[in-house]
Amino acid sequence: MPVNSEEYKKITGELKDKKVTLVAVSKTKPVEDILELYHLGQRDFGENYVQELVDKYEQLPKDIRWHFIGHLQSNKVKLIAPFVSLIHSVDSEKLLKEINKQGAKNNRIIDCLLQVHIAKEETKFGLDEEELKELFTTDLVNGTDYKNVSVKGLMGMASFTDNAEIVRKEFKSLKILFDQFTIHHSPFTILSMGMSSDYKIAIEEGSNMVRIGSLLFGERAAKK
Ligand SMILES: *Cc1c(COP(=O)(O)O)cnc(C)c1O
Repeated sequence: MPVNSEEYKKITGELKDKKVTLVAVSKTKPVEDILELYHLGQRDFGENYVQELVDKYEQLPKDIRWHFIGHLQSNKVKLIAPFVSLIHSVDSEKLLKEINKQGAKNNRIIDCLLQVHIAKEETKFGLDEEELKELFTTDLVNGTDYKNVSVKGLMGMASFTDNAEIVRKEFKSLKILFDQFTIHHSPFTILSMGMSSDYKIAIEEGSNMVRIGSLLFGERAAKK
């Protein structure tokens, strides 16, 4: 299926005025599709699977900013640590520690977002509010233990439902947390929320980074 360039232009037009960053989610899609959007000017791409991301990184232009948005296992961090731009899905201290360790090995500071569980569904990964607060020990804030990670903000996924009010409520709750942390713990700058079906609501509720896949690349085949 070809890339939907009309939709791409429409979305980037909408987002530009609002200063919202578009992450084009290219998981399961071929490098040809990514290149097509690249030639239209897109530089931020999101992937969910480590090996797929590594393969695409090797084949594609080096000025692409790669976002890792899927569930990340600690033992795979080393594969993406040399080049990943932003990891959206940090959901444990163990993972944060490993990213820090691999950041040090690669002599870089890796930008991360903490994934917060805002949806009702049990299946979605993420920290709850308590875990988020626990993670924000003074060491993380002062950077003494975590010199090679930089926590830039929060990421969340709303429930998979047609009920826009539920989705809006969940995004609102994440924005509230984002504002609280910015005041009390750390100056967060990135709030990653919104996908193809709900990005407009997410932006209304304060998102400044949306992760859009199927609207740009067409529907994906069933999950592998
Ligand atoms: C797949 C995925 C997206 C994109 O979903 P679409 O509905 O295709 O826009 C966004 N965020 C995450 C975390 C994803 O896994």
